[in-house]
Amino acid sequence: MKIVLQNLTKKFPSRGRKSPGEVIAVNDFTFEIPDGKLVGLLGPSGCGKSTALNLICGLQKPTRGKIFFGEDDVTNLPPEHRGVGLVFQNYALYPHLTVLKNITFPLENLRGADKLSREEMEKRALEAARMVQLEGLMDRKPSELSGGQQQRVAIARALVKTPKVLLLDEPLSNLDARLRLQTREEIRRIQRQTGVTTIFVTHDQEEAMSISDMIVVMKEGVVQQIGKPQEVYDEPVNLFVARFLGTPPINIFRGRVSGEVLYIGEDAVLTLAGVTDQEVTVGIRPEGFIPREDGPLTCRMTRVEVMGRDVSVVSTHPCSDNVSIRSIINAESMVDPDAETVRFSVKPHKLYLFHPETGERIPFTVRA
Ligand code: ADP
Ligand code: MG
Repeated sequence: MKIVLQNLTKKFPSRGRKSPGEVIAVNDFTFEIPDGKLVGLLGPSGCGKSTALNLICGLQKPTRGKIFFGEDDVTNLPPEHRGVGLVFQNYALYPHLTVLKNITFPLENLRGADKLSREEMEKRALEAARMVQLEGLMDRKPSELSGGQQQRVAIARALVKTPKVLLLDEPLSNLDARLRLQTREEIRRIQRQTGVTTIFVTHDQEEAMSISDMIVVMKEGVVQQIGKPQEVYDEPVNLFVARFLGTPPINIFRGRVSGEVLYIGEDAVLTLAGVTDQEVTVGIRPEGFIPREDGPLTCRMTRVEVMGRDVSVVSTHPCSDNVSIRSIINAESMVDPDAETVRFSVKPHKLYLFHPETGERIPFTVRA
């Protein structure tokens, strides 16, 4: 089931008496979520992710705009008629009910033609439990489960009515690092297996990048960029998106284009075409540095860190906006950690220019 958002907007009255006006939590969302895909809604805390999800499931009413499931306008449909499965950060299981009862709960209230026999309910619950590999734990209470298992119960409960759309709001936040990794793989597998259109909300860029078919990057209620994770990483439309994606984060420098040469301080880093003389903000991905004795970018060496397969050179530069510059280099490259300076050349496709005030990307072409 594809989901279409048209000018979807949600405003809240401001709560601070000193700053009258309103908060636009979701500002004019217009995009389509393709059928059967897993879409990551990504942005910092407070950017409107939960509000967007609440609008899609019907828990909140939009100020403006429309929501379609397939061809159907569901904007005014109550949540129970939208066919959505919901999972929140706090699993919100019923503590006094067994796993089985927790999973069958959404089926208990079906009335009329939809009413199910106890047998049928338990059969469906078992199917959902199998999907999340919980079938051996059906008689336990939530307190007898690990966090990861509890979250799987919540997912099974969301799946038991075979929803047309699955909505997950930061479902992994309460899990420790290892479980988070495991559970996100699990969610990916279940999503593939069921083919249910899924929206996965998170503030964690790595999480979103790793499991999404498509990510929607948001800032202050406004969509910044939509695309495949790798495409957005490779071609960020602005400084915000470039900074938000990637670990370690992109390195930012104050630079200047003069006579088709990009300077960072005194260092002539790149010859490029298509940019008039101006001040620019330069972003270089950690993997965009190549240590070279005659490299144009001269940095002051801080230290070299070896972490598993990665060698990371930590250095500084007077024009860097970051406390330190972090570059991930090939393990075979020889870098002397005791040297005073380290020099780099830069991979042009890992370097981006942005407008210093607006943060908009400035396109350029590379001169050989
Ligand atoms: P996120 O889930 O990305 O952290 P939210 O959607 O919860 O963000 O919130 C987006 C913005 O809307 C925030 O500024 C928040 O304070 C505001 N907001 C959310 N819900 C309400 C509400 N019920 N009343 C007033 N403001 C709200
Ligand atoms: Mg939220």
